Amino acid sequence: MLDADFFRRWMTATALMVDREAERLTALDSPIGDADHGSNLQRGFNAVTATLEKEAPDTPGAVLTLAGRQLISTVGGASGPLYGTLLRRTGKALGDAAEVSAEQLADALRTGVDAVRTLGGAAPGDKTMIDALVPAVDALGESFAAARAAAEEGAEATVPLQARKGRASYLGERSIGHQDPGATSAALLVAALEEAAG
Ligand code: ADP
Ligand code: MG
Ligand code: MG
Repeated sequence: MLDADFFRRWMTATALMVDREAERLTALDSPIGDADHGSNLQRGFNAVTATLEKEAPDTPGAVLTLAGRQLISTVGGASGPLYGTLLRRTGKALGDAAEVSAEQLADALRTGVDAVRTLGGAAPGDKTMIDALVPAVDALGESFAAARAAAEEGAEATVPLQARKGRASYLGERSIGHQDPGATSAALLVAALEEAAG
């Protein structure tokens, strides 16, 4: 079973990975965006870990809803409201249980990903974070490791796609040939899940 500590470890591991990969995320956002994705998420997840330390929410649902609210209020770019919605809606779906199963987490994450799709209007293949999140959620029933691999594959598979949502879509065909920054950071979020479990 996964308790509030597990979810705190997930957020802390995400913040560490985002710190480590911030330059790469920003570099990916340079040819097809405005070169701020790494710094956006660094600011957001640093704020998340600081708030979690201060407020110490004691259920999985409360950890994720607080983290999501914090992302929405600290990240100005498109990714703030989208990741914020993902975590907030996943947290809401977990309810107020003290512990949840991996299966319950997989179901709740699917609800969260659906909320991101509704908010941003992106479908799989539009070259967004959705291209990493959907395969990850599909593989989560198997294991955290399988979800991580699926997210990484999904992120790499955005390279030949033409962007249909977000800033990159303004470039039309010129968005082809670059990996999507948001799909890349979504793969970090899923990789951090495996770290929290291991
Ligand atoms: P901004 O584009 O506002 O500067 P970021 O650079 O932080 O925001 O995030 C860009 C990422 O957000 C993109 O790489 C993409 O994965 C994701 N994104 C943008 N718009 C959408 C959308 N409508 N639906 C899903 N993801 C999106
Ligand atoms: Mg950007
Ligand atoms: Mg921006």
